[in-house]
Amino acid sequence: MTLFEAVQGYVDQAADRLGLDASVREVLSRHRREVAVSVRVPMDDGSVRVFPGWRIQHNGARGPYKGGLRFHPNASLDEFRCFSSLMTWKTALLDVPFGGAKGGVRVDPKALSERELERLCRGFLAAIEMVIGPERDIPAPDVNTGPREMAWMLDEYSQRHGETPAVITGKPVGLGGSLGRDAATGRGALMCLDRIVHHRGWSRERISIAVEGYGNAGSWFAILAHQAGYRIVAVSDSRGAVWNPEGLHPREILAHKRETGSVVDAKHAETIEREDLFGLDCEVLVPAALEESISAANVERIRANLILEVANHPVTPDADRRLADRGITVVPDILGSAGGVTVSYLEWVQNHQHARWPEDKVNQRLQALMEAAVDAVLDRANRSAISLRAAAYEIAVERVAEAGRLRGWYP
Ligand code: GLU
Repeated sequence: MTLFEAVQGYVDQAADRLGLDASVREVLSRHRREVAVSVRVPMDDGSVRVFPGWRIQHNGARGPYKGGLRFHPNASLDEFRCFSSLMTWKTALLDVPFGGAKGGVRVDPKALSERELERLCRGFLAAIEMVIGPERDIPAPDVNTGPREMAWMLDEYSQRHGETPAVITGKPVGLGGSLGRDAATGRGALMCLDRIVHHRGWSRERISIAVEGYGNAGSWFAILAHQAGYRIVAVSDSRGAVWNPEGLHPREILAHKRETGSVVDAKHAETIEREDLFGLDCEVLVPAALEESISAANVERIRANLILEVANHPVTPDADRRLADRGITVVPDILGSAGGVTVSYLEWVQNHQHARWPEDKVNQRLQALMEAAVDAVLDRANRSAISLRAAAYEIAVERVAEAGRLRGWYP
């Protein structure tokens, strides 16, 4: 099964339950446009290398295409097909007026110098420039990209089209980025968790959390959850994990990671194997790294009661079924990871208005949008006795199907 087929499986199940007819299902199962490019990068040593890149636009029924750009040595067409479709359902579930897209380059960015990376960003933007635009398709950061990369791409686009801040989100604040965007994915995930904790009548202090992945989303989630009173007992990155059942200090660990390149050997914690994080005794497990980190290979080890998906597609469909059988609640990625694109929407609105909002206003709007989505998902899951993932897909698929119908795409 490909990554895209895994997500499409959830869409098909929702379409079955909603009784959608064949033409609607046909449209929802296809990508509107797939652009494959070769990015030429003059290297510092005088040679030239060519990297494959993609921008995949899945469905634009609800608005301009929207989604991040990732630089990763394993990036592939299949994963961008999967992630662009996830963006369609994520933006629909949060009710922000976008469709879904994703893209990036197959490259190990850590092996490039800063100047080579800049040339890669500019070259990639030049290669996809004709299919993006502030009302057409709006890229953003994803794995291994951030404000610096967005700034180079904005500059490249604006040199060709005139200053256009709304063409890309996740920019540095000094170039029209939004306050709060950097922390938004982690903050949105925490808002989800808080809402569920509130509905279930639990208390934060008694909840221990393990976080897989200490990049932008995982580290912000850990820092903010710790501030809110939750106990972070373990965090990991690609090199290993650190654990302290009494609780870790996420900011200290981030400082250690910045200094040494990894969370491994951070003070006041025991260093353990990366995979051992999944079997720890904790209440909540937060996969915030790459796709398919929870699969048949480790699902039986999991002891958490709740899984909060902050990465895109971290749980394989097999593992998802197994977790459901074991009564473990899963907050799906299209909800748990939606804080980033939600603040991207708020950034885009500010750019259109030539306005700058204070961070409080951004966080309040994020909270209102996240809570509305969480409440809608919990309500539908309860009423129909289905999983949170099934409920989230039902809501999203219904909205996208309806927008297509209003546009006259099918009877
Ligand atoms: N890359 C993030 C995601 O997967 C954010 C996308 C955006 O802000 O457009 O949701």
